[in-house]
Amino acid sequence: MTDVFVGIGSNKGNRKKNILRAVGLLERYGQKIIKISSIHETRPYGYKKQNLFLNAVIKLKTGLSPEKFLSLCKKIEKEIGRKKSFRWGPREIDLDILFFGKKVMKTKKLTIPHDDLHNRKFVLIPLTEISSKLVHPVLKKRVSEIKTV
Ligand code: AMP
Repeated sequence: MTDVFVGIGSNKGNRKKNILRAVGLLERYGQKIIKISSIHETRPYGYKKQNLFLNAVIKLKTGLSPEKFLSLCKKIEKEIGRKKSFRWGPREIDLDILFFGKKVMKTKKLTIPHDDLHNRKFVLIPLTEISSKLVHPVLKKRVSEIKTV
């Protein structure tokens, strides 16, 4: 079993319900939820002219490979009603794989650790809340020590 950290965001529809539903579906599809951070309201990242987001980070244990876990995340996004939008555009739900154990990988479909997490306060703050001693396997820093620019 591997410890996985997942970033969850929503800025469309009932944002809190969407986040809680994503957590419920991860559990229903066999993932063991270990911790859930507080839910924070944040300004949109990238494209600014859209609703505020709610963001949270969860820790879970999985028996899946990174690729299978990504497919599960996409299935859940679809189930919650996410339609294709533009990059950084509004979304009912967004699931990002932040860390997958100590794995470091980069393929066309998947970069682990998530390639932008060190720039995102809305990820670093909830990550620090639930796991401040967690070390980024590339930056070799605790998440609590990573400073955004
Ligand atoms: P998004 O629009 O944020 O849902 O991301 C779009 C694509 O990013 C997905 O279809 C994935 O193939 C790719 N991707 C690359 N690395 C990751 C990651 N660590 N977590 C989630 N998606 C990723």
